[in-house]
Amino acid sequence: MRINEHFAKLPGSYLFPEIGRRVRAYAAAHPDARVIRLGIGDVTEPLAPAIVEAMHAAVDEMGTREGFHGYGPEQGYDFLVEAIRANDYAARGIDIAADEIFVSDGSKCDSGNVQEMFAAAARVAVTDPVYPVYVDSNVMAGRTPAAGPDGRYPGFVYLVGDESNGFQPAPPPDSVGPVDVVYLCSPNNPTGTVATRAQLEAWVAWARAHDTVILFDAAYESYISDPSLPRSIYEIPGARSCAIELRSFSKRAGFTGVRCAFMVVPKDVTGVDPSGERVPLHKLWARRHTTKFNGASYVVQRGAAAAYSPAGLAQTNAQIAFYMENAKLLHAGLTASGFTVFGGVHAPYLWLRTPGGATSWDFFDRLLGECQVVGTPGAGFGPAGEGYFRLSAFNSRANIEEALARIQRQFGPGRA
Ligand code: PLP
Repeated sequence: MRINEHFAKLPGSYLFPEIGRRVRAYAAAHPDARVIRLGIGDVTEPLAPAIVEAMHAAVDEMGTREGFHGYGPEQGYDFLVEAIRANDYAARGIDIAADEIFVSDGSKCDSGNVQEMFAAAARVAVTDPVYPVYVDSNVMAGRTPAAGPDGRYPGFVYLVGDESNGFQPAPPPDSVGPVDVVYLCSPNNPTGTVATRAQLEAWVAWARAHDTVILFDAAYESYISDPSLPRSIYEIPGARSCAIELRSFSKRAGFTGVRCAFMVVPKDVTGVDPSGERVPLHKLWARRHTTKFNGASYVVQRGAAAAYSPAGLAQTNAQIAFYMENAKLLHAGLTASGFTVFGGVHAPYLWLRTPGGATSWDFFDRLLGECQVVGTPGAGFGPAGEGYFRLSAFNSRANIEEALARIQRQFGPGRA
């Protein structure tokens, strides 16, 4: 069999397996060390009782002749789609129809699969640093030659997020040439920063003027507490004709191990076929979704719907508040230890400048070796992540406090 040669252009392993390898090697050499993991962005609080109850009831239903469910609707059960439409959109004055919502088993799959709708020659823009799936899925699809010595793929347009723009790059100048599609993520993984309304307005205006589609990853929208910050791209007038939105129950309802997400594809978003005719992306995604996906599990969708019940909302909001209190403690403690810290106010991630200009992998090894704390090297998110480091606020309060105490002992005032 001839293989897809584009895989050879990818880095040897995805970022997190390499972190896992280094942590395992350290733990094997130091069997008594108690390593605290603030690396991978995985939730730690147990499922909310309202969700557990709904899933138990759904399992019981499935065990009866009347309540059994086989294959469900590919786009999701009406009870969940309707809860999404009413709570996430209609309640915020956003006009999204139920059949524009596609329930799936995760935003990682959605954000990796969405590129199947783009032309092979589509020009893709990504931020740098970036959630690696957006880049790697387009590399696998053959949309770029191999990366250059600077670690960048020549086929992509990179929009650098740095301290000068608060890690929220603006739309590119026309000199970069045409862009078919741009991936944006707010609140951002990895930098933990969030786009303001004015910044998203600038993106929507640019996308409409340049006939570019925005893929807006809002996996962390529930971590926004300032009501003046948009939680959906559709809060920006005009976005219905240029933006697809991705959302997940992973970080908002503790579903990383349960798996449920959705993608919104408004019927007004179109692309052009080779003859120049405009085609709604909704039509393509409906075709793709029904061909390659057989629906998320009934039990899981019942659990996701319970996240919108009054009890489910109260319980999941309390979990989010708990993680955000962790983020606040980390932010204050790291700042007091002399670190320059970004993000962590409307997102569960903090983005640190590495001390003394260390490379992000050197700082990773130092933090692991000296504090037994695991974080994520910024360079793993793209060349512009070099010199930065991501810490996640997903952990128990005791672990956050212990990690902070160790970091303060090692790096706090009077230490180098
Ligand atoms: N998008 C972003 C920006 C993420 O950080 C993550 C997970 O960390 C995902 C998508 C994937 O979410 P899911 O668990 O729904 O696959």
